[in-house]
Amino acid sequence: MLKKNKRRINKCLEECNAICCHDLAVQIYKPVTKVEKEDLRWHLFFEGVKVFIAHRKWHLLVHSRCRYLSKANLCTIYDRRPDRCRKHNHPHCELEGKYYETMLETPEQFDAYFEKEKALQQKKKRLIKN
Ligand code: SF4
Ligand code: SF4
Repeated sequence: MLKKNKRRINKCLEECNAICCHDLAVQIYKPVTKVEKEDLRWHLFFEGVKVFIAHRKWHLLVHSRCRYLSKANLCTIYDRRPDRCRKHNHPHCELEGKYYETMLETPEQFDAYFEKEKALQQKKKRLIKN
C-alpha cells in the first residue's frame, strides 16, 4: 500500500506539472431549456472556460491556478489538502490523457453539439414512426 502510494506521488512529482491543480472542474446539470442553454453558452464567451462531459455528467471547467500551489508546482498544504484533492489520484487523472467524452470550448462547438443531438433525436423519431 505504501509502495503504491509512493509510486503515485512520484508520478505526480516526476511527470506532471500538477495539471489537476490548474483546472477547476464543477459538476453542473445538462442544460435543457432554451434559457439554460443560452446561459451556459454565454460562459464559453470567456477564454479559459470550457464545458466537458465525462461519464454522461456535465462539468464547467475553469483554467486557473490553486492559490496553494507553489511556484515549483507543489501543494503547500499537502497534509491539510481537501478530500476532493485526496480523492483525485493518478492514474485516474488528466495526465493519462482523455478523461472526457466531449469537450466544448467555444459557443460554436456548443451549438454544433446541440444541433447534432437534435438531428439524432429527429432521426430516432422518424425510425419509430416507420
Ligand atoms: S493526480 Fe494526475 S494530474 Fe494531478 S498531479 Fe498527479 S499525475 Fe498530475
Ligand atoms: S489544495 Fe493542493 S492538491 Fe488541492 S488543488 Fe490546491 S495545490 Fe492542488
